[in-house]
Amino acid sequence: MGQGRVIRLIAMEGGTVTMKESHLMVGGSERQRVLPIPMFLIEHPDGLVLFDTGCNPKVAVDPVACWGKIASYLGVRMSPEQAVDEQIKLHGYKPQDVKYVVVSHLHLDHSGGLALFPQAKFFIMKGELNYAYWPDRSARASFKLEDLLPTRRFDWVELSDDTDLLGDGSLVMIKTPGHTPGHASLLIRFAHRHPLLITGDAAHIRAQLESFAPMPADFDQRLAIASLKRIKEVSEREGAQVWVMHDPDDWAELPHVIA
Ligand SMILES: [Zn+2]
Repeated sequence: MGQGRVIRLIAMEGGTVTMKESHLMVGGSERQRVLPIPMFLIEHPDGLVLFDTGCNPKVAVDPVACWGKIASYLGVRMSPEQAVDEQIKLHGYKPQDVKYVVVSHLHLDHSGGLALFPQAKFFIMKGELNYAYWPDRSARASFKLEDLLPTRRFDWVELSDDTDLLGDGSLVMIKTPGHTPGHASLLIRFAHRHPLLITGDAAHIRAQLESFAPMPADFDQRLAIASLKRIKEVSEREGAQVWVMHDPDDWAELPHVIA
């Protein structure tokens, strides 16, 4: 039975990107994969929690104007109702109801809606903000300064290690660096079911959890491999189900409302 107080988790849709498996995983095939961009709304007695914010709503209007060349490279597809604020309304809440935002990392398909939650407290691993504001030249296209600048005065909490965010074991941010310097995954403990571990982009497809193959474009592949092993170890210790956030099969097979 449950060990936490999370009431319900809702997986919201934020559009798709399309990438070759060989770009998602070292040793992957040339098969094109259509990857969902989920955002998760978490109902907790202390308030509403959001895990990741998807793409900037303007991507639905003009992806190239918003993202530049990487929009075509990733074949991003998004409709206006897939913006995070619209998705939240679709599920009966207002964006202002979000009390906490948990950020896996600051790539453009995760950070696009940050500015829509000025009232919230933001949790992120140390190192991610610094890097996102001034990335290596080769990583520059994946971070959008325009998504970050409006949030400079927001209530950001930078964490150094695994952290029980609400102090009751319900939401534990797990440090899984490698894809980016300050990447994190999220362990969710429910009131009435077994835990769930959402990988963020520590893995992109399920096969990586078995092969421990990193992504060619990871910031640090050695760290990324260690984080894949960490996900396996934590999920086994906790008896947690793993949700590989961008994995098309997980999106198709896992229920989008979990309670
Ligand atoms: Zn991503």
